[in-house]
Amino acid sequence: MKIVRTFAEARDLASGRVGFVPTMGYLHEGHISLVDAARRDCDTVTVSIFVNPLQFAPTEDLASYPRDLDRDVALVEAAGADVVFAPPLSEMYPSDPLTRVTVSGVTETMEGAIRPGHFDGVATVVAKLFAGVAPDVAYFGRKDAQQLVTVRRMTADLSFPIRVVGSPIVRESDGLALSSRNTYLDPAQRIAARALSTGVLAAAAAVRRGERSGGILEEIAARPVDAEPGIDLDYATLADQETAAPLGALDRPAFLAVAARVGRTRLLDNVHIDPDGGEWVPDEGIRLAETSILYREA
Ligand code: AMP
Repeated sequence: MKIVRTFAEARDLASGRVGFVPTMGYLHEGHISLVDAARRDCDTVTVSIFVNPLQFAPTEDLASYPRDLDRDVALVEAAGADVVFAPPLSEMYPSDPLTRVTVSGVTETMEGAIRPGHFDGVATVVAKLFAGVAPDVAYFGRKDAQQLVTVRRMTADLSFPIRVVGSPIVRESDGLALSSRNTYLDPAQRIAARALSTGVLAAAAAVRRGERSGGILEEIAARPVDAEPGIDLDYATLADQETAAPLGALDRPAFLAVAARVGRTRLLDNVHIDPDGGEWVPDEGIRLAETSILYREA
């Protein structure tokens, strides 16, 4: 496996069908599941590690975001990736960018409403990575559901010849969706944070029992979070998988997303709900049998 700092080197090392996994590092099994999917489909697997300042507001956690390149390199090497692209700021933004990619519409609700400018930062860096790495297939987690909608739309609108694949959420054994930000949680917060997955998984169970009302599903997802004193719910929303527009009823491919603040840490979770024959089937993601590598020494 090679570690490179420039777009040119990342392109030079790629051959055949190129699978690409963009990340901000501090990797866990959620990221590794994307590397695994790329490894199955592609000849070259390139993983980028870049904490993108453009997608953080001045009040957010850019400075404290966890970073450990040596640990990340060991993890992606073990997963069988070919190239780690870890650009310095000067490669990604040689000068202050005057060009931004704005995806309207799909970014107006949920995360886009709460984090103004966030998806401009995401769309801009992903467009630059797509242009510079030139992959055939790019892998994103369903964990960041609205980000996936935004990236798909940006890719189509800008005619990138890249297939965007959405991959299931990987969860701790107790249900909590893996996130690099979980390392911010103290032990009591870590226990309280389970309320997010408890809520969306209860809503998934209700979908299986036949519930189709957006309001009722949102209420079911919100209940455990509202009941947890240490957590503040930002939203529980049933949304269209293509447009991220809120839905009154489950009548098309959707995701039920929750966002909440646990102390100073913002966490997200969701279940995607897709049609299968005549049924609506919720995707509850994949549960680890044991504690994630996030909490273990690399
Ligand atoms: P990040 O490093 O947080 O920017 O995430 C990089 C990629 O990994 C994004 O496509 C995320 O959606 C994905 N990802 C993060 N957490 C998970 C998870 N628990 N399960 C699946 N994918 C994830």
